[in-house]
Amino acid sequence: MTATGFSALDNLALARGTVDRVTERRTDKDWIDAAWKDPRTRVLVVREGTALVREAGGQVELVLAAPQSAPAGTRFLLGQDSDGVVYFGVSGQSLPGWPDDGQAGGGIHPASLREVGALLSDRDAGLLTHAVALANWHDTHTHCPLCGSVTVPDPAGHSTTCPVDGSEHFPRTDPAVIMLVTDPEDRCLLARNAAWPGRRVSILAGFVEPGESAEQAVVREVAEETSITVTNVRYLGSQPWPMPRSLMLGFRADAPADQVIAVDLNELAEAGWFSRADLLAALESGELALPPPVSIARRIIEAWYGGPLPSAWAPPPARS
Ligand SMILES: [Zn+2]
Repeated sequence: MTATGFSALDNLALARGTVDRVTERRTDKDWIDAAWKDPRTRVLVVREGTALVREAGGQVELVLAAPQSAPAGTRFLLGQDSDGVVYFGVSGQSLPGWPDDGQAGGGIHPASLREVGALLSDRDAGLLTHAVALANWHDTHTHCPLCGSVTVPDPAGHSTTCPVDGSEHFPRTDPAVIMLVTDPEDRCLLARNAAWPGRRVSILAGFVEPGESAEQAVVREVAEETSITVTNVRYLGSQPWPMPRSLMLGFRADAPADQVIAVDLNELAEAGWFSRADLLAALESGELALPPPVSIARRIIEAWYGGPLPSAWAPPPARS
């Protein structure tokens, strides 16, 4: 796919990273074992989609552990930086250092990608996104889908094998499309999901179905949710959204004139066309609110608008 239109989708919050995934090392058990014994190695511990972060002086950074102090759990190789430091993730349900264990403090607390994804450095944003995605997969894919046996992770934690039938299993990613639809007056279609509280609005989104292209999914989802027919579907950019396992594919599409919005009330509470002036006024008055900067939705809306917009949703609780 070729990106067209906006150039402002560079550097999406969760599409950053500086650590090489060293995929060529994933089958090298000796190298992995040596890296785990290296005191320079750093471990990112993930529990229920959160990791410990340290806030100091307006900065937010991940709290990384040495291998010898890392808790037991499912281990996975995240990569190696340009200084040769190797990074692993560990996922587990019972890990030390969380505030409910009474050991945290000093500005250290658990945080989710939604909360801190846009605040972390490029290195830390990439590490946390990668680790949360793998942790979510390990946490929910513990058994062989063919025979039901408990599977065994490979040394790098990027696949599992069934000990009974030998089948190999790899992390899953669910593609989802998210699309800015504009009418001939360049007004933007914004909708409020029935499940969202207050006056939160965003652009339309939905999962790609089996046997469907991303572009077909854009056309189908817009029609299903609003009865609007769109044309000229153009790809903008993507970012992972591993809560639990999505890849958000951003698009624009055009809505030809003289169409009537008919909202699918099972999915949406309301939808409507907004000019740039309409949207700014509604945000400034507090009548409407937009998704947070960590989301591709916010970035696409601001790219259409032509600059930053006020307002953000309050992030959900860390453990949600
Ligand atoms: Zn099996």
